[in-house]
Amino acid sequence: MSLPVVNALVYTLVALALALVAALLVSAEVGWVVFTLGLLLQLGYHLRQWTLLEAWSRQPAPENELGGSGVWYEPFSRLYRHERELRQQIAHWQSELARFGAAGQALTFGIVATSQGERIEWLNRAAEQLLGLDQRADLGQPITHLIRQPAFVAYLEAGDFAQPLKLRSERAGERVVAVRVVDYGEGRRLIQITDVTQAERLDQTRRDFVANVSHELRTPLTVLSGFVETLQELELDAAERRRYQDLMAEQSLRMQRIVQDLLSLSTLESAPPPPETERIDVAALLDKLKRDAEALSGGRHAISLEIASGGDILGAEGEIASALGNLVSNAVRYTPEGGTIRLHWQSGPAGAEFAVVDSGIGIEAADIPRLTERFYRVDRGRSRETGGTGLGLAIVKHALGRHQATLEITSQPGEGSRFAVRFPAARVVGL
Ligand code: ADP
Repeated sequence: MSLPVVNALVYTLVALALALVAALLVSAEVGWVVFTLGLLLQLGYHLRQWTLLEAWSRQPAPENELGGSGVWYEPFSRLYRHERELRQQIAHWQSELARFGAAGQALTFGIVATSQGERIEWLNRAAEQLLGLDQRADLGQPITHLIRQPAFVAYLEAGDFAQPLKLRSERAGERVVAVRVVDYGEGRRLIQITDVTQAERLDQTRRDFVANVSHELRTPLTVLSGFVETLQELELDAAERRRYQDLMAEQSLRMQRIVQDLLSLSTLESAPPPPETERIDVAALLDKLKRDAEALSGGRHAISLEIASGGDILGAEGEIASALGNLVSNAVRYTPEGGTIRLHWQSGPAGAEFAVVDSGIGIEAADIPRLTERFYRVDRGRSRETGGTGLGLAIVKHALGRHQATLEITSQPGEGSRFAVRFPAARVVGL
């Protein structure tokens, strides 16, 4: 029996005893009055404790102490302590939950937790960005109502998650994402989303590159094997044989140039960064570029060199010579006979600029941004006729990029082009 009940019984017995004494000594009425008073006093005390408990239960915050008295003191204290401990535990778990939530939000890959019916229970910021979802508006929605791509819906329905699913995320600016799903019981799933746009782009570039290289080599190879067959099968006189042999040499030279340029590109890609202290004698280099241009032109163009100010470059001489040489030889190759080619050098505190200005065939504005792509040529036939591989400007871009230099191309079709290389001040010395 609990203490308050025992206490109530004891007080009732005391009231009864006092009432009996009063009844015997005075009268029965006085006895009843004493007994009733005793009971009322007790009732009042317990009612007061009950009122305290009732008021506290409405707001059982730790700062509102539950102060019972007498026999109620102990149970009230226990209740109060229990409540306080419970609240402390809740606060602890709430902060743990918030910490886990913050960690989930900070993840660089997207996470969406779904329950039965693929309804979104939780998602992080990365998932919002990668799938174009909204953390507030989309909670509780079936994810298949938001990402409706048939491949995604079928993937979730099939339930075979051994392989990730690649998805073009339409709601998030055409990103490519890889989706992985883990079932973790009671219809709950964790959907993990990673951004593979960059990897996919690189993969595509690699596939295009392999296809381009194969195509570029296959053409001269087909021509070459055709000539070999002709030589094998036909009875030719010495002059004809000679002509076929010259054509074959031309095709094999073309293949050699392609392979040579490919090797140059791959060397540039894998070589360590160019030196930052090796000085390239620019005046001597420009002089050589002019002589090479004259040799290539064979007197068909008016070639001039202007050196507006001094200054040398710090870097890998071979790479810079090949990059600038490429621009100069392009100017000769794409400028018809009688045209002019100007080589210009100037330097200052802001850096240095080497420019090749020709009065050649020029380039349409739409082609300019693509010129440095591998194998991109405006006029395939003309490039081939002049011994081009379509890799020259790609090599230029790479070599310059390694020296923090930039290439600026301006051109007017039919009037000429200007290819300008800008070196940053850090690469220029001897001003
Ligand atoms: P290619 O070996 O075909 O010359 P490049 O990479 O050096 O390859 O150049 C790419 C394309 O840019 C060329 O095919 C040509 O169409 C265009 N081009 C480059 N330089 C010039 C120039 N000075 N004038 C006009 N077109 C040019």
